[in-house]
Amino acid sequence: MNTLLSPAIDTVGELTERCDRCGSAAKLEVVLASGGDLAFCGHHANRHKADITRVASRIRLEEGFEWAGR
Ligand SMILES: [Zn+2]
Repeated sequence: MNTLLSPAIDTVGELTERCDRCGSAAKLEVVLASGGDLAFCGHHANRHKADITRVASRIRLEEGFEWAGR
């Protein structure tokens, strides 16, 4: 079983969530491999990119957001 598969990444028009860390408008949503989901603003999405990639089964990016972890 390959546990190093990259998560699927979708681009969506606009995210309505708020960042779970700071409350700013989310630019990235993560569907966790373990269930549940998280949202991050651009700043936190980039800061936590390695962790996000590790735990995500699916990632949604707001259109136009250049995620450093992509
Ligand atoms: Zn944030």
